[in-house]
This record gives sequence, structure tokens and C-alpha cells, in this order.
Amino acid sequence: MGSELEVIERSLSGKVAAVFHALEIPESCRQFLLDPLGVPEAVWSSCIFSLRERKKDEERVLSGIVERFRVLGIIYLSPSLAEIEREKLEEVKLLGEPEKVFCRSCGRDFERSAAQKECPSCNGILLPAVEPLRKQISRKIDRALRLSMISDVLLVLGRADQLSPGAMIPWTAKVFGGRELVVVSDRRSSLSQIADVFIEGDPMKIFP
Ligand SMILES: [Zn+2]
Repeated sequence: MGSELEVIERSLSGKVAAVFHALEIPESCRQFLLDPLGVPEAVWSSCIFSLRERKKDEERVLSGIVERFRVLGIIYLSPSLAEIEREKLEEVKLLGEPEKVFCRSCGRDFERSAAQKECPSCNGILLPAVEPLRKQISRKIDRALRLSMISDVLLVLGRADQLSPGAMIPWTAKVFGGRELVVVSDRRSSLSQIADVFIEGDPMKIFP
């Protein structure tokens, strides 16, 4: 694994990077995100459970990258509960936060609870805090694109072709912005074909 890490280090050395979190999406989360109001509660719970299980590993890998390289921000193309929260580090969760709900009337966020259907402060209807229900996707895409364009290199972890519209960001940054692409994934994809550097392997295992 050492040599793969060296290749990444060489590719990112002296550059500012944006990280694209595009790790495999758990099947329950895929179903939930495709139809957040249509799937049974159990699918939603199962999605959150899967994300909770890998939260610590993701945080370990992402913090390691942030400490090792000059990272401006993390764009989460896939759902994730990871929170890195460093000063000046921008984190954009494109699909929203599956573990939260928001009030359709007053806009407040709450932790999800299966029993709670109404907003505690205004009795408005609570909806999953995910896109497109939240209606923040265009603002988030703007932030993610801006972050990609002010970086020299994009480090893509996983397969960035899984969910639109986030999937088009690395393409736009590469094709229109001329940014460099370093893709670490255990599977080849259309994006790995245009990458400057493609490293075949599980991104969760390559970073110590
Ligand atoms: Zn409310």
C-alpha cells in the first residue's frame, strides 16, 4: 500500500486540493434518497445505521488527508455522517443529512426521531433533511463547483458517478476548469478514464 500513498503524495505535493467523498452508498440509503417520502421508516433507519457504522472510519481517513495535505474542503457526493470540522475547512453535503429532519414551515433542523412527526416549535410538518426535499441543492452545487475551481487538484475517493447532480462536478472541474483529477477507487469508471492519476484500491484502506 505504501507506493500508492507515495503516488498520491507526489500528485498533491505543493498543491491545494478539494476532496470528493464518493464512497459506496449503502443500498438502504440509495433507496431512501431516491424516494425519501415513499420508502418505509425502516429503510430510513437502516440507512442511518449503515452510515453510523462507518462514520468513525471515514473520519479517520478524511482527517488523515486533511492533516497531510493542503485541503480547502470536502465535498460529500455520497451520504455521510462524518464531521471533520477544522477551521477554514469547507464541508459541503450535497445530498443533505439523512440523520436529521427539518420543519417545512420554520426551516429548523432536528435530530430524527421516528415518533416525532411535527415541529416542536411551530407544529409544522417534519421532513427528512435531504435533497431535493430541502431545496438547497442549487446553492450546494454552486459551493461545490466554486471549491473545485479554486483548488489545483481534486482527490476523488470512490466512484463519483453514482448520484447526480453531484457526479458532474469532477467532470466540470476537469473538462471546463482544467483541474487535475486524482481518483482512488476499487472500480474503474468513466471518470477514472479522464483522471490524471488513477489508483486502483479501496480508499478506506490506502490511507493509513
Ligand atoms: Zn417549525
